[in-house]
Amino acid sequence: MTPVDLLDLDSLLDDEERQIRSVVRRLVDDRVRPHVADWYERGQVPARELAREFGRLGLLGMHLTGYGCAGSTAVAYGLACLELEAGDSGVRSLVSVQGSLAMYAIWRYGSEEQKQRWLPAMATGEAIGCFGLTEPDHGSDPASMATRARRDGDDWLLHGGKMWITNAPVADVAVIWARAEEGVHGFAVPLDTPGVSVREIRRKMSLRASLTGEIALDDVRLPADALLPGAAGLKAPLSCLTEARHGIVWGALGAARDCLETTLAYAGTRTQFGRPLAGFQLTQAKLADMAVEWQKGFLLALHLGRLADAGRLRPEQVSVGKLNNVREALAIARQCRTILGANGVSGEYPIMRHANNLESVLTYEGTSEIHQLVIGQRLTGLSAFA
Ligand SMILES: Cc1cc2nc3c(=O)[nH]c(=O)nc-3n(C[C@H](O)[C@H](O)[C@H](O)COP(=O)(O)OP(=O)(O)OC[C@H]3O[C@@H](n4cnc5c(N)ncnc54)[C@H](O)[C@@H]3O)c2cc1C
Repeated sequence: MTPVDLLDLDSLLDDEERQIRSVVRRLVDDRVRPHVADWYERGQVPARELAREFGRLGLLGMHLTGYGCAGSTAVAYGLACLELEAGDSGVRSLVSVQGSLAMYAIWRYGSEEQKQRWLPAMATGEAIGCFGLTEPDHGSDPASMATRARRDGDDWLLHGGKMWITNAPVADVAVIWARAEEGVHGFAVPLDTPGVSVREIRRKMSLRASLTGEIALDDVRLPADALLPGAAGLKAPLSCLTEARHGIVWGALGAARDCLETTLAYAGTRTQFGRPLAGFQLTQAKLADMAVEWQKGFLLALHLGRLADAGRLRPEQVSVGKLNNVREALAIARQCRTILGANGVSGEYPIMRHANNLESVLTYEGTSEIHQLVIGQRLTGLSAFA
């Protein structure tokens, strides 16, 4: 149990959930923690190697069933996201994009042949997937996407480009969303198809232990069976985002917990004015407020996870979780940073890395503003954005 768990929220988990959590925690301790500061500094990550290890543990497409996927509960998947993000948000992003975006899109909307072709290989980490919705000129408003799909005989021709695509530089397949005459379609696009080119986006100051790319599609010719037959309209990619956002609700708590645990240990040993920082009332006020927010965030994540497992989770409820937990995790990371003083900005401690990562997490999968608008629409019945 973490010292942050003042309310013994652990007791709300069952044995299997606790066991999955310890397995992932151990993996992160062994395979991520010793290296992640270096990956972050170099802006590189051994994504293929990690994907295979995560695949061996059943973490890829973990909450999906069949096709080699583990078929775990939403809560178990959430706990795995939390532990992965306690290592690094970029490492959790690798798993989220693979499982909740790319695999989920194929699992939910793909043909049987597409599922057989991609899912078992993606579940083991032999194949890596990415999810292309955002474009250079269309982020929060994907309905105005410029990427086009048109029929040419039996084939499809895709033209346009996708931007800020996690895993793209290392991916084998991209789920690409494009507008055709009749509406938005999804396609499973092998990235070695002629006309597809991927450029890695460098110089990110956030999520540096995650590979991000731009995908250019220059009249890419695809056979008819590249189309995801079940996906009609923008509702399809948005449903995938709801899946991934649920993982983020949990994941952000992992980054925050790591900041809090690091800060508690630091404040207990660092002395100024003849006593440990932890003994100052102002420090304790900060620690207490952060622990309270963390506990509230965990309760929220667990409630949403239980709703998901009961098949009752609605998108605006996920917006509540994503808005709150990422915002609070970022606030916790920044506050922890103050307690570490100058050491707070050092890469020798994980705090600044988590804080920088959470800036991306705040923006991707729907910015905070977009989640406020989703919640606002639910409260008022009026859409302020669509
Ligand atoms: C590291 C990283 C990885 C990513 N990975 C992926 C990926 O794998 N796949 C993918 O498809 N995308 C990915 N994204 C893209 C991400 O989803 C978008 O950045 C996000 O949706 C916001 O779009 P934008 O950056 O174009 O910002 P914009 O849409 O231009 O928004 C800019 C600002 O304006 C605000 N805003 C926009 N519209 C409104 C409105 N109506 N009312 C009030 N405020 C508004 C936004 O909230 C934001 O604060 C990733 C982004 C990052 C940073």
